[in-house]
Amino acid sequence: METLKHKIITEGRVLPGNVLKVDSFINQQIDVALMTQIGQEFAQRFAGKKIDKILTIESSGIAPALMTAQVLGVPLVFARKRKSLTLSDEIFAAKLFSYTTQKYTDVMIDKRFLAEGENVLIIDDFLANGQAVDGLLDIIQQAQAKLVGVGIVIEKSFQSGRGEIEAKGIQLESLAKIGSLDNNQVTFVD
Ligand code: 5GP
Repeated sequence: METLKHKIITEGRVLPGNVLKVDSFINQQIDVALMTQIGQEFAQRFAGKKIDKILTIESSGIAPALMTAQVLGVPLVFARKRKSLTLSDEIFAAKLFSYTTQKYTDVMIDKRFLAEGENVLIIDDFLANGQAVDGLLDIIQQAQAKLVGVGIVIEKSFQSGRGEIEAKGIQLESLAKIGSLDNNQVTFVD
């Protein structure tokens, strides 16, 4: 998606630890026109698939997930993060390692918002080592819902997430694929 790539090149900043900061248009200030296009692009890439619900994790996944849900006319559900969870019969929960904070976080969804047999599309802002997607997959399995695919705004293709998702035979659509952040330079895969 050329508009997204242009924005990454002009406004993205590379931080230590292979972190790309895009807080001027995705992670803090949101470029609503770009986010609208992102929603349309995801809807197009998963056109023809039956999708009942979009699933993401708070907070940065919500904007692209919301725009996609709006185009598709389906609800958006986001997993909430907690430092630690006491087990409850009313929630689906998963533990994941956060790439940006380098800490374990529990994520949870109230069981009322994910039902057996529902067709679920996962949307997130970044894909690094695939922990966030893994946590959401775990929750989808607990709910006995069905995964339609995974849509990612910015994939860091040099990290392990893509390989792991592809190995599971899941359709993965990423709107910008970064091949390297070496020397503080963003290089795209294609
Ligand atoms: P993963 O779980 O795939 O290892 O990492 C993806 C999650 O970590 C995303 O939900 C995103 O919030 C965060 N993340 C990973 N890499 C980056 C990055 O380079 N920049 C930003 N802003 N967030 C990232």
